[in-house]
Amino acid sequence: MRRPLASTVLTTVIRDSIDRPSLTFWRQLGQKARVRKGGAADAVEKNRLWFVGAYAHATELYLDAYRKMGRGAFYPGWCALEDAEHAFARLEENPFIPELSVWVRQRADLVTLWQSTFPYRHFISPAMIYKRWECSICGKQSTPVDPCGHIPKRVYNGEMCFRRILEAHPREMSIVTDPVQKYSVLQLDYRYDTVQYVLDLLQGPFHPWSGEWTYKRHLHTKFADHPHDDACPCDSKLRYAECCLPTEGVRMPHFQLEVAWRPGMPSMDDIILLPRRGREEGTEDRTVRAVALRGR
Ligand SMILES: [Zn+2]
Ligand SMILES: [Zn+2]
Repeated sequence: MRRPLASTVLTTVIRDSIDRPSLTFWRQLGQKARVRKGGAADAVEKNRLWFVGAYAHATELYLDAYRKMGRGAFYPGWCALEDAEHAFARLEENPFIPELSVWVRQRADLVTLWQSTFPYRHFISPAMIYKRWECSICGKQSTPVDPCGHIPKRVYNGEMCFRRILEAHPREMSIVTDPVQKYSVLQLDYRYDTVQYVLDLLQGPFHPWSGEWTYKRHLHTKFADHPHDDACPCDSKLRYAECCLPTEGVRMPHFQLEVAWRPGMPSMDDIILLPRRGREEGTEDRTVRAVALRGR
């Protein structure tokens, strides 16, 4: 009888342990995959073992983010989420083990969901022009007019292609809302009520949930002392009198979430409402509402 391939064995391990919340477990699985990759017979098996190792590493990054957020270290948690986002994206771009694709997609969505609970909206984005680089796969020194043909972030023979930049020119710094990398948050004195609220509700890093930002109208009586000529409390930068005042209420961000019900949690009918306090004392700003759903 032929011995099963290492990548097949390790894929089964992943599927059997998919929701395991142990950082150490995933770290060791990643190490095992890298060792096996060294002794793999062909490119197909090397690529599959790259995938196993990269999946384990991406999961480890997500668990690290969850742990950091749980300790109240929100910005480090944000950076770890960013790393996890890129790690899962690399797996989606190199789908060598199709049986795990559905999990890669789910985890990528989970990371995006967590990112949406953060208050960061604007980032500093440095733009660079690369003039000359060396390819990690073939070692060729390339320029934009004379590339080697290897595509960065694509995996060849179990190794990911990246470029060692030899010459680059910074072009500009811009403030953007959807940057390529999200580490450069504009300022750090933020409130993390939504992240904290979700953390308090969940019973672990893989507890199923979903959520989205919408809007809610808040009664004008709450803003009775807000001058009509001042900027609207909804942050539109328009005057209150020409923005929300003629409507039924002030339009404020609202995060609506659904959480899988677990023993010890309020039932589906119980709605948990968290009123958030805004910049000005006594002004309700954003709200978060959760519904716990049975059978998920
Ligand atoms: Zn190359
Ligand atoms: Zn308004």
